[in-house]
Amino acid sequence: MVERVGPSPGLGLTSERARARMLDALRAQGVRDEVVLGAMLAVPRHAFIDSGLASRAYEDVALPIGQGQTISKPSTVARMLENVVRGRSAAALREARVLEIGTGCGYQAAVLAHVFGEVISVERVRSLHEAARTHLRPLRLSNLRLAFGDGHQGMQAQSPYDSIVVAAAGEAIPEPLLLQMQVGGRLIAPVQNADGAGQALHQVDRTDTDHWALTVLDAVRFVPLRRGTR
Ligand code: SAH
Repeated sequence: MVERVGPSPGLGLTSERARARMLDALRAQGVRDEVVLGAMLAVPRHAFIDSGLASRAYEDVALPIGQGQTISKPSTVARMLENVVRGRSAAALREARVLEIGTGCGYQAAVLAHVFGEVISVERVRSLHEAARTHLRPLRLSNLRLAFGDGHQGMQAQSPYDSIVVAAAGEAIPEPLLLQMQVGGRLIAPVQNADGAGQALHQVDRTDTDHWALTVLDAVRFVPLRRGTR
């Protein structure tokens, strides 16, 4: 099946070819996980961004999605998800439930829906939440639910989660998220460094009811995790 990128026929690349190239670039950067790569091959990133930027959809860049927010660059999404899925089989992931904080345009939520059995994604900016709904509708991902709210509270109703992915950087990981995670579960979140300079990706594994193990991963750059809704 051949599908054109966005509304601009002059682009000359089908989105499938562009996505295959994006995968080559991700592999060249060291992304190895076939479950993650397969999911990124399946999701049309151009469908989540403004048509004026569609020609850049498969470059490894963050792009504006309105309200001062950005769609994370493909290599960042891949790296986050590789950390989330590490050590778990594709079959186990198909049985697992994941919570995403920061739906943004909905791209990463769609990728997660190709990996996990069930996805719940929360966004605090109403217009982005609604735009994500519009972007996702044609993809008919019946295992993905979008919620509007402040992700600091997590989403108690559907907890516990096997995995939690946070797409915005806070000063600390909100406690409700740690509590809504299953024992054996893993959370991946960008966190601002204590000195205020820069951010690092934090991995937290819930090893027991009352024990969480922190691993600090790579330096990253995400938009800030903010309080309240608007
Ligand atoms: N996963 C997104 C990345 C969006 S950027 C994508 O694929 O495009 C991060 C998003 O987190 C922004 O949309 C921002 O509004 C949202 N955000 C920031 N603080 C939040 C909070 N407390 N609760 C929910 N969403 C939040």
